[in-house]
Amino acid sequence: MVLTDDQRALQDTARRFSREQLLPHYQQREKSGILDRELMREMGRLGLMGVEIPERFGGLGLDAVTTGIIAEEVAYGDFNISLLPVGMSLNAAILMRNAQPELVDEWVPRMVQGEALIAICLTEPRGGSDAANLQLRARREGNEYVLNGEKTSITFADRADGYVVFARTGTPESGAKGVTAFFVPADRPGIQRTCFNDVGSAIAGRGSVFFDDVRIPANHRLGDEGKGFTQVMQGFDYSRALIGLQCVGAAQASLDEAFAYSKEREAFNRPIAQFQGVTFPLVEGESQIAAIRQLCFHALALRDADQPHTAEAAMCKWMGPKTAFDVIHQCLLTFGHYGWSKDLPHQQRLRDVMGLEIGDGTAAVMKLIIAREKIGRAAVQYL
Ligand SMILES: Cc1cc2nc3c(=O)[nH]c(=O)nc-3n(C[C@H](O)[C@H](O)[C@H](O)COP(=O)(O)OP(=O)(O)OC[C@H]3O[C@@H](n4cnc5c(N)ncnc54)[C@H](O)[C@@H]3O)c2cc1C
Repeated sequence: MVLTDDQRALQDTARRFSREQLLPHYQQREKSGILDRELMREMGRLGLMGVEIPERFGGLGLDAVTTGIIAEEVAYGDFNISLLPVGMSLNAAILMRNAQPELVDEWVPRMVQGEALIAICLTEPRGGSDAANLQLRARREGNEYVLNGEKTSITFADRADGYVVFARTGTPESGAKGVTAFFVPADRPGIQRTCFNDVGSAIAGRGSVFFDDVRIPANHRLGDEGKGFTQVMQGFDYSRALIGLQCVGAAQASLDEAFAYSKEREAFNRPIAQFQGVTFPLVEGESQIAAIRQLCFHALALRDADQPHTAEAAMCKWMGPKTAFDVIHQCLLTFGHYGWSKDLPHQQRLRDVMGLEIGDGTAAVMKLIIAREKIGRAAVQYL
């Protein structure tokens, strides 16, 4: 893909911000476990949140491909901070396509400014892969819905300002057809939230959200009743391609650092860069990451052209985190015993990208989606 002048200018802004402000404090930020909301606002001011959001909501009115460029650049400096623009793009797309105009007017500009953080609540304790088999109930009472149940494994659970929640409005047997999506402000009475002790991405505060007789106005419904899966879930094709680019960014950072180190470090009286046993695995990583980057941009270009991209997005989602994990692992080994230290960022990147081998759907589920796109329901009658 060849970038336009505008894309290159925005990429430069994101690159400078990421390498000067994010990269030097990546591990420290993660160690603190604190999500720096001022940093989020700074990204809003720089135009890094809401690149594709129309200008009337404060965005730049650009496209999905440009959003992907930003996701990669931000992830280069701090994979976990890149969860912010990616989550914002997914949730803003869901709101703009499915919410009442007054809800969009209230929330989307604040998201673009980096003022409001929205979490997406699909997974429940009984399982996430079989996502349509959810139990959290929403019952209609006059001009309100009342929500009861638990969502778990939610990124930003205990720090979000609002939630996109998938709930059952149909009968327990109604499957995907009985699921409706809602927007729930986090300050509604009856909400409690927890935070897990995670392997990585601590600043994202993954946890559970409990809904105990939580009342929301009926106009907070997203899309039609019973259409949560067919209408609202389509947004996930977008985030899956962006997740691929987050992983590309993290792996590229480790690759650049490992190549630079290979020129400095000596063994047998010469730089280790002269050993093809050192450079070839890195070159293989560089090549795989370059290929996945192009696949992700292809999926986003299809989205911009309003063409189907479900299979391509699922490919990005399973190959991105897995390849990035393998590549970062190889980079860590290139540093020898230094790589094993927590002072270097590779171990942190490994743990962070691994989370997205599970989050937003596992590789197994992505492969089921690709098989279904390829040969239809013969591949997966239950999905
Ligand atoms: C870092 C992270 C962030 C997350 N963020 C969010 C979030 O913001 N919002 C949210 O709603 N959820 C979130 N999740 C939850 C995530 O989407 C689920 O964990 C995921 O969908 C898998 O569900 P599960 O953990 O219940 O595993 P299960 O569904 O119990 O699956 C267990 C294992 O069985 C495999 N498996 C299941 N079915 C099949 C099948 N048909 N064929 C082959 N293998 C199968 C799975 O691949 C997995 O390895 C997050 C998870 C993580 C780790």
